[in-house]
Amino acid sequence: MPEDHQPKFATVAVHGGAAPDPTTNARATPIYQTTSFTFDDAGHAADLFNLEQFGNIYTRIMNPTQNVLEERIATLEGGTAALATASGHAAQLLVMHALMSPGDEFIAAKQLYGGSLNQFGHSFKKFGWTARFADCNDPDSFKALINDKTKAIFIESIANPGGIVTDMESISKIAKEAGIPLIVDNTLATPYLCQPKQFGADVIVHSMTKFLGGHGNSLGGILVDCGTFDWMASDKFPTLSAPCPGYHGKVLGEMFGPMALAIACRVVGLRDLGPCISPFNAFLIATGMETLPLRMRQHTENALHVARFLKNHEKVAWVSYAGLSDSPYHERAKRYCFKGAGAVFTFGLKGGFDAGVKLVNSVELFSHLANVGDTRSLIIHPASTTHSQLTPDERTAAGAGDDVVRLSVGIEDAHDIILDLERSLDKI
Ligand SMILES: *Cc1c(COP(=O)(O)O)cnc(C)c1O
Repeated sequence: MPEDHQPKFATVAVHGGAAPDPTTNARATPIYQTTSFTFDDAGHAADLFNLEQFGNIYTRIMNPTQNVLEERIATLEGGTAALATASGHAAQLLVMHALMSPGDEFIAAKQLYGGSLNQFGHSFKKFGWTARFADCNDPDSFKALINDKTKAIFIESIANPGGIVTDMESISKIAKEAGIPLIVDNTLATPYLCQPKQFGADVIVHSMTKFLGGHGNSLGGILVDCGTFDWMASDKFPTLSAPCPGYHGKVLGEMFGPMALAIACRVVGLRDLGPCISPFNAFLIATGMETLPLRMRQHTENALHVARFLKNHEKVAWVSYAGLSDSPYHERAKRYCFKGAGAVFTFGLKGGFDAGVKLVNSVELFSHLANVGDTRSLIIHPASTTHSQLTPDERTAAGAGDDVVRLSVGIEDAHDIILDLERSLDKI
């Protein structure tokens, strides 16, 4: 290919970060199932440990199978560097660990994945980090919570589970004015449907457990540094702008510029907290990524069929899918994820809590479980499961009231998916 040609999305999804193995010529990326890597000599070892040179030391910090995945996703998201982790939650933890000190605050949308609400609202408190929650439909509610201690804003591009598309550009403007980074969880959209960097994200996180891996077989997370934030512009982020005690006083923000956050998350956060991804999981997820565009096309096409079917069903009170033209989020979906509004959405049953329980007990093709983004169609009743630890008010605020059912529409034949729902709704 000509040297100045930028390969397109589907090509990067297959080839990004990968090349035939230099020692064996293996075409598929090998699983480098090793804990450690030999040094050429003592000087080489010292350079690696002092960040004078990049290279493999120990699989907690980096591994060649993991690197393929990181380069592939960094390229697809338009970022400068990425760091793969054991899970989506691990990626969120490492980003916050780089940005926050005890006593600091960040602002998160209250419309988030239930697990993130728990992580932010409860476990992060033990580090002395306070999450304040705003309404992603009201950008000014973020602005109202900003103070001297605020270090970041965290939103989801398509919010789980409500089928909400967030107004990223308005919220990004508020973050920029405050001199703090915007972190976007792009799990439900994937870079195929939405590229948050174009709309002002500074950091992107994913649960690769979902659509990126795509087959419901491996946990994984990733953080992408968009390279857009100047960490040296203030003293708000000492992990990046102040001398680093773990590395003889080196200043990471100065040494690594637009990749500094991804590198800090690796050489400080991942090194010291330890939630690394196994080479085997990195291999499975990188393999899954090869078909991301094909799968996402089928997922979104099926989701639209299913949403239209439910919309017209007498036992269904409402459907919240931004792909439907009467959704309040349809205009935003056309702007932020014009190829489709994803495959995860909610609907309400006229029969409330009991009808939700009956439905999940009746389906046969759908799997009743707590995950999204599998090739298989998945169903859950959040009020009795994922969101059951929240108070009723928090549940309603998160779009997970008693009558709500969440679907993750798979890539089976749309007719079979609809038939399963039709037969199960009949039993209510
Ligand atoms: C699943 C999920 C997470 C957490 O990811 P894990 O891989 O389960 O740790 C975070 N955000 C969203 C939107 C998710 O769907």
